[in-house]
Amino acid sequence: FGLLQRQDPEIARVLLDELDRLRGGIQLIASENLASPAVLAALGSTLTNKYAEGYPGRRYYAGCEVVDRAEQLAIDRARQLFGADHVNVQPHSGASANLAAYAALLQPGDTVLAMALPHGGHLTHGSRVNFSGRWFDVVAYGVRRDTELIDYDEVRELALRHQPKMIICGATAYPREIDFTVFRGIADEVGAWLLADVAHTIGLMAGGALPSAVPYADVVTFTTHKALRGPRGGGIMCTQELAGRIDRAVFPFVQGGPLMHAIAAKAVAFGEALQPEFAQYARRVVENARVLTDALAAEGMRPVSGGTDSHLALIDMRDAGVSGAVAEQRCSAAGITLNRNVIPYDPEPPTVTSGIRVGTPSVTTQGMGPEEMKEVASMVAQVIRSPDTVGEIRRRVTALTQAYQVYPREL
Ligand code: PLP
Repeated sequence: FGLLQRQDPEIARVLLDELDRLRGGIQLIASENLASPAVLAALGSTLTNKYAEGYPGRRYYAGCEVVDRAEQLAIDRARQLFGADHVNVQPHSGASANLAAYAALLQPGDTVLAMALPHGGHLTHGSRVNFSGRWFDVVAYGVRRDTELIDYDEVRELALRHQPKMIICGATAYPREIDFTVFRGIADEVGAWLLADVAHTIGLMAGGALPSAVPYADVVTFTTHKALRGPRGGGIMCTQELAGRIDRAVFPFVQGGPLMHAIAAKAVAFGEALQPEFAQYARRVVENARVLTDALAAEGMRPVSGGTDSHLALIDMRDAGVSGAVAEQRCSAAGITLNRNVIPYDPEPPTVTSGIRVGTPSVTTQGMGPEEMKEVASMVAQVIRSPDTVGEIRRRVTALTQAYQVYPREL
């Protein structure tokens, strides 16, 4: 870091300021985590230099013998962790993994059944502003108005009516367990591929805190930087039957050279997730999310669907008399980072929203537990209700975070 500081003080300053932001605040963004120093070391390595188009042992470049070992380790560890037949660790992100999954299984114009974005689905599940909505004929299912749970009857009816070639389950902002067995049954009934996009919950599956999608889905796409706590990136698991199609869809169809430093870091993260402590971590993430959600509910902030089974909760802010955007901004001023989020049947546009999304992967990595979650909920509630107390809350945030630092003050 000393070298970077001398050569490029502007970027060095950015790194230090971001470190300060992470150390000085509470991170409740459900899709984020705090990667370990070992993951960061692999990311900042000379493996970034290597071109390695192709797959281990079958590259289009010379000199890949060493980086091949990193990719093979990543594949082997992921297979061990999830019991998958085949794993591709090259997708640069969750969105690229999904693009490759569509490319492997479909032709443009094919029909896809997926969860609506305003009900918790992802942009890659059929939004008009994304390739998925532009190039495919997407039919959307959602959650019921009364329970705010996935309406499996509607999923089945829509599948029977539209005969999709692929059904997607998995979401970005759905707090509840998804029943993969029901989705598998519906997919079988209409002869559709089943894609489980477990970008958010892969870490909980790795730790056994949520059921795995691997035995049920034909293809499972995931990210490595959320609850799994690895580097920013994606991956795909599939049956042996689809292995060749998936690999060819990732490279050469969607991507060029793989990011070998990121793949090495993915291997490190899978290695960490194979340790027994990771199962404890995953359980504590869910326990913390439950306590945080209950404590926010006790403060008069309604959890969508009444609670959570996972690492995240969606909170309806209407009873607190503020929009999601205002809540986000007030919390941010106090050093609590969370995001505004549309809730099902939200009357507000996505820039305003009626809800916020909170998640516990980062605070759990920091070692916080149920008592700290109650304190966090109390701070969130107070700063949203009484923004004039922001100075006091800022001090409480600093006091709380001091005991739970993952990264040292110096780089
Ligand atoms: N799929 C789901 C369900 C997600 O929640 C996300 C990211 O939030 C993605 C895909 C995309 O991942 P990335 O941001 O790495 O492209």
